[in-house]
Amino acid sequence: MADRSSAGSRASTSAVRSDRPLDRPLTTLVSKGAAKALGGLGLHTVGDLLRHYPRRYAEPGQLTDLAGLREGEHVTVVAQVVQVTLRTTRQGRGLLEAVVTDGRGRLDLGFFAARPGVLKYHEGVLLPGRRAMFTGTVSRYGPKLQLLHPAFTLLGDDLDEERHREEAAWPIPIYPASKSIESWKIREAIRGVLAGLDEDDVLDPLPPRVRADQGLGTLRSALTDVHEPHVDADWRRGQDRLRYEEAFVLQAELARRRVQAAQQAAVRRPGRPEGLLDAFDARLPFTLTAGQREVGQVLSHELAGDHPMQRLLQGEVGSGKTVVALRAMLQVVDSGGQAALLAPTEVLAVQHARTLRALLGDLAEGGFLGGADVATRVTLVTGSQPAAVRREALADAAGGRAGIVVGTHALLSSTVQFADLGLVVVDEQHRFGVEQRDLLRAKAQATPHLLVMTATPIPRTVAMTVFGDLETSVLSEVPAGRSGVRTFMAAADRPAYVARTWALVREQVDAGGRVFVVCPRIDPDDASAASPEAELDGADLLDDEGTTGPRRPLRAVLEVVEDLGSRPELAGVRIGLLHGRLPAEARDEVLADFAAGTVPVLVTTTVIEVGVDVPAATVMVVLDADRFGLSQLHQLRGRVGRGTAPGTCLLVSHATEGTPAWDRLTTLTTTSDGFALAAADLELRREGDVLGAAQSGGTSSLRLLRVARDVDVIERARADATRFVADDPELRSWPPLDAAIADRLTGDREEFLERV
Ligand code: ADP
Ligand code: MG
Repeated sequence: MADRSSAGSRASTSAVRSDRPLDRPLTTLVSKGAAKALGGLGLHTVGDLLRHYPRRYAEPGQLTDLAGLREGEHVTVVAQVVQVTLRTTRQGRGLLEAVVTDGRGRLDLGFFAARPGVLKYHEGVLLPGRRAMFTGTVSRYGPKLQLLHPAFTLLGDDLDEERHREEAAWPIPIYPASKSIESWKIREAIRGVLAGLDEDDVLDPLPPRVRADQGLGTLRSALTDVHEPHVDADWRRGQDRLRYEEAFVLQAELARRRVQAAQQAAVRRPGRPEGLLDAFDARLPFTLTAGQREVGQVLSHELAGDHPMQRLLQGEVGSGKTVVALRAMLQVVDSGGQAALLAPTEVLAVQHARTLRALLGDLAEGGFLGGADVATRVTLVTGSQPAAVRREALADAAGGRAGIVVGTHALLSSTVQFADLGLVVVDEQHRFGVEQRDLLRAKAQATPHLLVMTATPIPRTVAMTVFGDLETSVLSEVPAGRSGVRTFMAAADRPAYVARTWALVREQVDAGGRVFVVCPRIDPDDASAASPEAELDGADLLDDEGTTGPRRPLRAVLEVVEDLGSRPELAGVRIGLLHGRLPAEARDEVLADFAAGTVPVLVTTTVIEVGVDVPAATVMVVLDADRFGLSQLHQLRGRVGRGTAPGTCLLVSHATEGTPAWDRLTTLTTTSDGFALAAADLELRREGDVLGAAQSGGTSSLRLLRVARDVDVIERARADATRFVADDPELRSWPPLDAAIADRLTGDREEFLERV
């Protein structure tokens, strides 16, 4: 790899020029029609086009498997012509019919024209034995699949030009194409554009030193490797280098954020002896697990520091994150500050406030008769509070009487003020965005300390990317004495299983237990599964891939409540219902009745997924379980078996054996390790689901990198980026890196990074 020593300075000067070659609009380089078609794919500049990587590579001598085609699919296939007939239809139109093969299967092609003569060209070139690449939409004619009017380009060694003979042996890049522009036209456009660029035109985000250390080529050479490979090793090398680059750019930005955060000033919150925390620890009804103690020490140390803590706390379901967070909050209160706890839903906020008050006892009764000397107050702020209650809550927060303020998004409104906000705890981060974090921050004089808690364990690579600007702590141990949850599958279409399910529910109710019945939807009359209340009810449903036969509507809370009411097994049992569309007070009431046992069966959406803590809950029945993700099911079942009685989780579904859905549910019955399940979940989902909507658009920044797969690439890039940024936090020595961050990590993407 020949690095010219002047490359750095030359790149720096061109980086600030506005006419960077990669920014040039495609309209100046390709035909108007092509530019329009490329624009339809989200490709507007030279840079966009060059970053439009092939989706795969067809082997030059190898034909596409025709058995895999599906009706309605827009496809590009490489196949060999078997026979061609040109005839005239009864209406006098021309019809050219061809049959092509991949060596095993066959596919019919059809071309119609007003007159047969028009099809002479096709007849002349689609000679039996020739290979070509065909693009079109697969349709059905009788029992057979066909391509009507496919666009095609001839391939192969029977074309006599030298270049073609040579190229015939190269891997064929297949691009994500569209109806208005075929894969090979994109290939041509890219070749044309690439030929006009030399090394200096293509600014490389990777600093030369990093490139040298990693033994990677330049960006220009990597682009040639992926777009014009001569052998498979070429595109593999090119992809490796581009994948590393994606990881490096992202990690450089994350490293920069960590450095910036570390430079901000924070108020020290060292706590004090004989304060609330000591009083709390002294009365704790259980001993902390080793993990809770360890993480507690880390948090305690960081809260006492000059710079804001930025920490992510991950923990297995039921590992006791709340107590850990509460102890951190108490240390801050002991230091004269306040703590805010943000929850994603009102149900959770109400529940958190209740839990914290219960854990604190009279330590939460500051200012009240009978409150402990050192006591503080836990105040709840939600959107649906009556005005008078809210006014008092706001006064408690602003006046500093409330050491702990719990709330939902309502906490972020401008009417909420704090006397001295020292710590922000965000529970179940994934529903909070950047603005919200900034809004809360703006309520404090100095940057408050930040603790983010995730509901579900997340795989390490996701932690390193999505939360890469936070330090991570993990609570993997679940407190001793938990009875755990046993998980079983139940077939929804076997009446005997169904009857047994509800009989078990009845038994548990008679024995004093509580039962959750979870449904993917609220209302049977809503057509879509992704109902408007999705934000609250939170189900991120998977496609139906595990069942056969006609599509069934998903089970809905309102309908299931009625069904259960008429089941003989449940005669006389009171059944409640809970979902995100109920007003807040109604939800509270329902949960309270459920916890108290007056209504022992609760039909609900996934609104109970996180945080709902009812120790007497022993059974969970999940309907249409195959439509939930693994992590979500794991999270859900964590709601039962929290007390001394063992929990049972029944996964009811129509999944049939041998389907991915069946395998997924089986995994759940055999594995209780949340981290393993999260990793499995990640592999099952498309990347876009993991990293957010920003990944799906044409401008997404992670194209080749897969967080489920590229662990070692991400780790390497992270180490290199951290080192690079430590030496040069402003990235002054390599402006193209800064430019790449600005280009790629903007808009949605930026938001995605800030999702804490
Ligand atoms: P999660 O990590 O899922 O949020 P929680 O914080 O809700 O878990 O804790 C689950 C339950 O375990 C709560 O009832 C809590 O009081 C209890 N708990 C927490 N720590 C311990 C411990 N060390 N020993 C026994 N019970 C604990
Ligand atoms: Mg929790």
